[in-house]
Amino acid sequence: MKIGFIGLGNMGRHMARHIIQAGYEVIVHDLDELAAEEHLELGAEWAKNPAELAAQSQLIFTSLPGPKEVETVAFGEKGLAEGIKPDTTYVDLSTNSPALSKKLHQDFERLSVEMLDAPVSGGTTGAKDGTLAVLVGGTPEKFELIKEVLATFGDPSRVLHLGSIGSGNIAKLSHNLVSITSGMVLAEAMSLGVKAGVNPAALLEAIQGGAFGRGGAVHFAVPNIVLPGKFDDVQFALELARKDLRLALDLARDVNVPARFCAAAEQEATEGINDGYGKLDQTAAFLVQERRTGVEVRRSE
Ligand code: NAD
Repeated sequence: MKIGFIGLGNMGRHMARHIIQAGYEVIVHDLDELAAEEHLELGAEWAKNPAELAAQSQLIFTSLPGPKEVETVAFGEKGLAEGIKPDTTYVDLSTNSPALSKKLHQDFERLSVEMLDAPVSGGTTGAKDGTLAVLVGGTPEKFELIKEVLATFGDPSRVLHLGSIGSGNIAKLSHNLVSITSGMVLAEAMSLGVKAGVNPAALLEAIQGGAFGRGGAVHFAVPNIVLPGKFDDVQFALELARKDLRLALDLARDVNVPARFCAAAEQEATEGINDGYGKLDQTAAFLVQERRTGVEVRRSE
């Protein structure tokens, strides 16, 4: 099986290298031919455009900046669609719009090509080490067929099938919402702590050693309280959580630190208390958002 790989940037160059080093025959393409230097040295072939690459590949990967580039590479001039053969599998590793993944899936279906979305997580270090999380949307049958190739650059225990086409990107965007906003919340929290007088390195150590730093929310609270819906299994009551948010807001006012995330969280907790959840676990914040959205975040049996 020959594998085509397009997009040899900060992430793609490592992923393509792992596929080559696992012994697969690989053909590569990028707008920047120099990006392929290491791959050609390792024995990969060069294609001068996506159509030429597609004509020779049974499995094709793209790792491109975003929706615009993916659409161009797929259906633009000399794009994949101009060369691709029936029964080829196309996997987009870019972080992309789930709606575009679904649309491209339909367009490729007319060419008898099955597409999967498989955005990755773990940064350039994960890409370099071959330990990425790979979040896959597509049919379970195709997922099983390509899993081995994905595991050349992903940690096998983190190569996950999330559901039908688009699900990989839905999961990736949900993940990034948490990881990006928690970075911003950390900036707010640490600027507060430092301005109020604590040494930055000591403060970081305190945060790392606490419930948040140990991954308490995702490894304990959500699996054990939220997914089974056991909000009365109180580890830390919502009303006590709001008390701490108010204390943090008082401190922020004292030292002139804008704390907009803290203020929003205090409002959220207040809404939950008004809903009657004050004595429940602090994860009852989920119940507030569930009421507003009309979905329940529970484990399906
Ligand atoms: P990058 O900009 O470093 O690489 C993109 C590559 O695509 C470049 O080499 C560029 O020349 C090539 N390219 C762009 N348009 C092209 C076209 N029309 N035809 C052929 N090649 C083209 O980006 P990256 O950091 O490697 O990210 C790739 C994807 O992975 C993005 O969707 C990004 O959101 C996602 N991602 C990045 C990281 C990260 O830490 N960098 C982590 C996880 C996911």
